[in-house]
Amino acid sequence: MGKVIIFSAPSGSGKSTIVDHLLGKFNKLELSISATSRAPRGQEQNGREYYFISAEEFEKRIAQDRFVEYEQVYKGTYYGTLKDELERIWSAGHIITFDVDVKGGVNLKRIFGNDALSIFIQAPSIEELHRRLVARATDSEKAIEERVAKAAEEMKYAPMFDRIIINDELDKAFECADSLIEEFIRK
Ligand code: ADP
Ligand code: 5GP
Repeated sequence: MGKVIIFSAPSGSGKSTIVDHLLGKFNKLELSISATSRAPRGQEQNGREYYFISAEEFEKRIAQDRFVEYEQVYKGTYYGTLKDELERIWSAGHIITFDVDVKGGVNLKRIFGNDALSIFIQAPSIEELHRRLVARATDSEKAIEERVAKAAEEMKYAPMFDRIIINDELDKAFECADSLIEEFIRK
């Protein structure tokens, strides 16, 4: 079994920004591509952002015990990591990098134990998270309200992670993430 790094955060905390930075900087990290039953958005392609499958196919694979973990992150929409995905990345000699919701993050840490580093990304406050989601301009007003309401609940999971990065000034958050990853790669 190889190493894994797990990133979780309430939506709008800056998780994608930080994970993209790390994937660009550390060649050893490779993003785990999840399967999902949601439809592709914008330019998303099957096998790049996600493996897009129907809810029916997803449920069939659950019954076949083909997932490491899965969640209905939003009502009626499945997201999960296929066991095949782990082998694909480890056999390339890479460290699996997960971008999952907070419950998935806690479950993956439980599964991988000391082979895992779990990191919770946190915005400085709920108000700031709200401002960033508005500024990102990718979600409807209603979706933003839902995400902010969910964020308060998701924050409660922070203490269950190995490390918390407070993403206030982005440069400092990058530095903090870089040093955590360097240390974990060396270990
Ligand atoms: P997530 O993936 O957690 O939903 P994003 O990485 O998409 O979050 O970040 C949400 C928005 O906030 C984006 O528009 C991003 O550019 C911006 N952002 C990220 N980090 C910071 C920061 N430290 N200060 C200000 N804006 C930020
Ligand atoms: P989106 O639909 O915006 O791409 O993703 C929604 C949420 O699903 C994000 O919080 C993302 O981290 C989470 N997610 C993506 N893949 C998985 C997965 O395999 N398992 C779990 N538990 N969550 C996932």
